[in-house]
Amino acid sequence: MSSKISKIIGGSIAEELEIETGDILISINGTEIKDIIDYRFLLADDYVEVEIEKKDGEIWTLEVEKEYEEDLGIEFEKEIMDEAKSCCNNCLFCFVDQLPVGMRKTLYFKDDDSRLSFLQGNFVTLTNMSDEDIDRIIRYKISPINVSVHTTNPKLREKMLNNRFAGNIYQRLEKLANAGIKLNCQIVLCPGYNNGEELINTVKDLYKLYPSIENVAAVPVGVTRFRKNLNEITLYNHESSKKELENVFDFQSKTIKDIDTPFIRLSDEFYVLSGNEIPKAEFYGEFDQIEDGVGMIRLFRDSISKDLNKLKIEGKGSFTLITGTLAFNEISKAAKAIEAKNNNVKVNVHKVINYFFGETITVAGLLTGQDIMKQIKVESVLEYIIMPRNMFKSGENIMLDDVTIDDLEKYFKKKIIICDYKGEDLIQLINEHI
Ligand code: SF4
Repeated sequence: MSSKISKIIGGSIAEELEIETGDILISINGTEIKDIIDYRFLLADDYVEVEIEKKDGEIWTLEVEKEYEEDLGIEFEKEIMDEAKSCCNNCLFCFVDQLPVGMRKTLYFKDDDSRLSFLQGNFVTLTNMSDEDIDRIIRYKISPINVSVHTTNPKLREKMLNNRFAGNIYQRLEKLANAGIKLNCQIVLCPGYNNGEELINTVKDLYKLYPSIENVAAVPVGVTRFRKNLNEITLYNHESSKKELENVFDFQSKTIKDIDTPFIRLSDEFYVLSGNEIPKAEFYGEFDQIEDGVGMIRLFRDSISKDLNKLKIEGKGSFTLITGTLAFNEISKAAKAIEAKNNNVKVNVHKVINYFFGETITVAGLLTGQDIMKQIKVESVLEYIIMPRNMFKSGENIMLDDVTIDDLEKYFKKKIIICDYKGEDLIQLINEHI
């Protein structure tokens, strides 16, 4: 276990107490520190006893009087100091099981740790938690927790997660919800398993826990070309995605009437595949499920039309915009609108097909550098290349196949600009480069 201190904030209590980087925080009030959640929770007092192991091995016990909310002013090498919990499931739709060999090691780690849910927004199944772990969430008020529910039908959940202990999800959610913990729920829809009537039963169950559960996001299962020796999975197509949208329509209409939100929202892929009209912005509320690809198209479309008048009309420049097949049509429309507004701006949108994982994977976030380099001719690239942020590892410049921004810039001999989901970012970035 390592709770090594990596930084001391200037002017902080820690500096005053001569705590240094490289020292180890052992405990607060006698409780061992396992993670940043322990640290934050135990520190919330106006008197604490802090045990520090100095770099030379000497143990210091420090009595600290402070403001209730005041921090010691230290940062740690890792937010989770023991090992992150891995999952104990074998989900039939697991993406990790469908990865090719030879990718970076961290991609194969199946994490299922509620602390990462709170700290980094990861989704957890709650299957590897003891009752004490659930009580710790409640005691520490760790909220919100992002939960992969998939279904509330106990037998079906056991089957889908391949885990005979996975069936008690509703009881666990109920316990957390009754304790005031906010829960963001996600469902990976697998046709023939948890869709149709099963889906409606699940959302009706989850709706009983409103407002602790405010909304549920449903995404379609993804299958890569490396899926071998695993159960057959049917993918959504034009008809079945249309049917799924119809399936949830009555439930959504009722909750829109009752609580002003559809409660369950299906991701953009369902609308693109079915050809159904993308719902209006009101349908998506605060766009809380954007990371799940729920409402991304609406947000982009609206922010482009709202911010198009901010595009500089005197500037000049040309851009190559890279995306996957899912968002290609939408981004192409935005590119045309930008070109129409300023005739001296050229925006070429390149649709990159995901040959690496397989053509049925259409989201931009799962594209690899090698597909981009294979499919876009160097001589076709304009002055700047614009790529969405979700093509890169969070907080880093590296793609799924370890290709970096630097690699792409060297290959294309052009500058790469990273852009967020919103159209306003695109307009602003174009303004900055014309
Ligand atoms: S919980 Fe997540 S990581 Fe674990 S098997 Fe299921 S999908 Fe894979």
